[in-house]
Amino acid sequence: MPSSAEEQFTGDSQCIVCLKEVRDGDALCRFTFEERTLTLCCPLCMEAFKATPKTYLGRMLPPRTDATSF
Ligand SMILES: [Zn+2]
Repeated sequence: MPSSAEEQFTGDSQCIVCLKEVRDGDALCRFTFEERTLTLCCPLCMEAFKATPKTYLGRMLPPRTDATSF
């Protein structure tokens, strides 16, 4: 059984917004941002990403160790 642990972004096969596993043929679109491949599974996720990209990008960017302003 899956645990109730918080879901995490684990790779470019996940939708960056809903964290759903997305197969290659099922992705709405893929694009590269700062050398990472991002996947969006559906138009709703694309709209959500465009509305507040920082919310989703923050999931996958490594925590900064040399700055505290983030
Ligand atoms: Zn999605």
